[in-house]
Amino acid sequence: MLASEPADCPLCAPDIEARAFRSDAWHLAIYNIAPILPGHALVLPRRHVCSALELADEELAAFALFARRITRLLAVTFAADGFDWTIQDGPSAGQTVPHLHLHIIPRHAGDLPDPGDWYPALLASEAAPLDSTVRPRLSASEHAQITRHLRALSDDPAEPSGP
Ligand SMILES: [Zn+2]
Repeated sequence: MLASEPADCPLCAPDIEARAFRSDAWHLAIYNIAPILPGHALVLPRRHVCSALELADEELAAFALFARRITRLLAVTFAADGFDWTIQDGPSAGQTVPHLHLHIIPRHAGDLPDPGDWYPALLASEAAPLDSTVRPRLSASEHAQITRHLRALSDDPAEPSGP
């Protein structure tokens, strides 16, 4: 088990809310500062937990439903026809930030030479999912611009809206 105080956790940082493009009472969705592919975002619980195994049943269900809502938004926005979801859960799986987070990566046929080529890039930069020095990095203004754009979009565009 990774040990970390929330005070040291980059995903519990005071400015984390300001970086989010969607949130609810339990979750945040943040555009990756160094996306592997366009639309690469992170979904995380507000509560500091290391592992998905620490979530109560209702928390895990809510996490998955929030992630699906964000995935629909990203798929429509980035015209994706597929997506990767991945959680590196535990140091043996490559987790270095001890706060549960799901990577959502919208995909298109032929976007990478091999469909699995995203994973080495993810591993190389997992140490700093919000501050990568490995992948090409968005500027602060570029990140703020795409965050504002995503905030302004209607939610669940694939779902019929209520009255
Ligand atoms: Zn945390």
